[in-house]
Amino acid sequence: MAERIPAALQQLLSERLSYYEDIGIRLLYRNRGTGSLPQIPAPFQVHREETHLPKATPASASLKIAATAPSVPRKIDVLPVVSGPSLFESVDKIADDSLLKIRTDLGDCTRCKLHKGRHTIVFGDGNPKAELVFVGEGPGHDEDMQGLPFVGRAGKLLTQMIEAMGLQRKDVYICNVVKCRPPENRTPEKDEVTTCSPFLLRQIDAIAPRVIVCLGSVAAQTLLETTRGISQFRGQWLEFRGRKLLATYHPAYLLRNPNAKGEVWRDLQKVMAVLGLQVKKSKSS
Ligand code: URA
Repeated sequence: MAERIPAALQQLLSERLSYYEDIGIRLLYRNRGTGSLPQIPAPFQVHREETHLPKATPASASLKIAATAPSVPRKIDVLPVVSGPSLFESVDKIADDSLLKIRTDLGDCTRCKLHKGRHTIVFGDGNPKAELVFVGEGPGHDEDMQGLPFVGRAGKLLTQMIEAMGLQRKDVYICNVVKCRPPENRTPEKDEVTTCSPFLLRQIDAIAPRVIVCLGSVAAQTLLETTRGISQFRGQWLEFRGRKLLATYHPAYLLRNPNAKGEVWRDLQKVMAVLGLQVKKSKSS
């Protein structure tokens, strides 16, 4: 006789399925070989053998592809991936997805513990058709109060960097790995990143930028699914789901280490070259 699913487990499964739908997983197949009911997986631990989805390029594999892809100008070493299932492998690109739909699916999110301390969800800001997307770590105090990314001290420096590239904030799109402020601005924890970053993935897919710039190690390590320190691949062209990705230092790091500004400017000049942006000549030259 078929096993009855206990009510509490039904509730958990229902919530889990709604979450999968919100992050873009629309098809799930049960592995019939296992016989008994599976345990509820930890957040987003969709086991590869249980999902037979049309494959999006796995983030881990895409790093290997980057070494040969003609659109990627630089050969890179293959970065080690975080062990366990790929965070993004099962997330297929949603046809006709939009920032509005993603924001609606995110809703008044309570999916991870960060919601308890937040004032406002900081979804993202800028041009929904931007060629350039900046990804930071997570909102700080000012962002949490205003509901906009990068509006505090680090944000002002980011704005200056964008303007030095000959752009304005409204030309680019700016968002974060986690949408709620971590307490005391601590680094987002693994479960928070795992729960929230599929929404970032949908944002990137919906915007379809030519270039993604990861600001700091949390953004870079999340999208590249690597544990390597950012200094090992900062400034190198990498690839994320068919798009060019470059990681550079976070503006908050530059506030503490102004000597690193030159390296970041050189990174941004690489981005400008790809986007066909000219360095403005100063009046004196
Ligand atoms: N730091 C970030 O990573 N994101 C923000 O939005 C602000 C500061």
